[in-house]
Amino acid sequence: MRKYSSFIAVLLAMLCLNCHGAPKVAVTIKPIHALVAGIMQGIGEPQLLLPDGTSPHTFQLKPSTLKQLQQAELIIWVGPPLELFMVKPLEQFHPRFGILTLMTVPHLQILNQRNEREWAHDHGHDQEHDHDENSHHSHDGQDPHIWLSTDNAKIMVDSIVAILSKHDPDNTKKYQANAKNLKAKINAVKSTLTTQLSQVKTKPFMVYHDGYQYFEKEFHLDAVGTMMLNPHIPLSAHSLNEIKQLIKSNHVKCVFRETEFNDTMTRQYLSGIGVNVEELDPLGARIPQGPEAYENILLQLGDTISSCLQK
Ligand SMILES: [Zn+2]
Repeated sequence: MRKYSSFIAVLLAMLCLNCHGAPKVAVTIKPIHALVAGIMQGIGEPQLLLPDGTSPHTFQLKPSTLKQLQQAELIIWVGPPLELFMVKPLEQFHPRFGILTLMTVPHLQILNQRNEREWAHDHGHDQEHDHDENSHHSHDGQDPHIWLSTDNAKIMVDSIVAILSKHDPDNTKKYQANAKNLKAKINAVKSTLTTQLSQVKTKPFMVYHDGYQYFEKEFHLDAVGTMMLNPHIPLSAHSLNEIKQLIKSNHVKCVFRETEFNDTMTRQYLSGIGVNVEELDPLGARIPQGPEAYENILLQLGDTISSCLQK
């Protein structure tokens, strides 16, 4: 009997831990994970699904990731245009507290993906026009790199607080207090970047894939085009020639490679044509995960861009 009663006591303790513990949250990419970690600080820690150095555009789901998804009570992701690997599993899983698809959050600013290698130079141009021109060869059309706008980040913070508070009302006050701190930090990051990047806004540069549009718009940067048209298709020799022409005709000062796409051919090619080449890390592959990662990712982008363009 004693054996059973201690067994029951353990069971009860487990049940109790379960009902008062923090929600089990799984988040796909590090910048979003950082926002969730900031909101949950002092309550619990969310799980990060995507390993460092992988791109959500090309990630293949692993059994360990599936297991994390299976155990989650709340799954937070950006949406199908970014994490295609999530679409099928999310049809199978019905986590207790639901799935938060950030691209569908109301009031978020969503830009259209650009489909050309060279972008229109005038900043004042409205998105509608671009969309009309390009929509016939675009699959989804929406640019999913929404976290690179600090205004979007704050709206996402509110939506994360709302869903956490709904399912864990006991901690609502803590979530709200954490969110307030987090949004103050995001505002500080925005003002730092605004000052820093205002000095280089007339300096043309080129990126590896069309992943920085929100950042370019927020800080009025002069991005002239992208090397890759599609993250799934490696660059051909023909494309590299076209890129070289683009670099010349636009007086491009810097080309920004990326941590996730490290192809030797492109690197060697670029090193031979006399343009500054630096590496951007929009997902924070080299930045430790946790509540500070969001601001660190943005500040590092700002540092890399401004120092390269000032060379
Ligand atoms: Zn991307």
